[in-house]
Amino acid sequence: MRLLKKKTKTGNLDKIVAEAKRLQESRENTYRDRALKLFPLVCGRCGREFSGKNMKELTVHHKDHNHDNNPPDGSNWELLCTACHDREHFQQLRDDPEVESPIDSERDPNYAYKPFANLNNLLKE
Ligand SMILES: [Zn+2]
Ligand SMILES: [Zn+2]
Repeated sequence: MRLLKKKTKTGNLDKIVAEAKRLQESRENTYRDRALKLFPLVCGRCGREFSGKNMKELTVHHKDHNHDNNPPDGSNWELLCTACHDREHFQQLRDDPEVESPIDSERDPNYAYKPFANLNNLLKE
């Protein structure tokens, strides 16, 4: 990468990096972005409101636990805060222990939020 060696005075590299990052993020968070535009920024369970900095804690829950199912009208989405999202999946597991790992089907490898990293271990014991 020649660009990395040549530091330009105009800060072009910063621009390029920022743009690449932006593109990557928009790919990874497409459904989240859409859901956040579609719904009021409020947790569907506890009613907590979100904006700016704490937006990270507002997550998109897929009602059928299939994160590939993203109808444009948002009918499969629900905005939940991380705490309520945890509870939602925990309940699912308890209500229907036969169900084939609903968590795995919803887990998005590009998305850092992994509420069940510990929960799975707890349940195994
Ligand atoms: Zn909540
Ligand atoms: Zn969920």
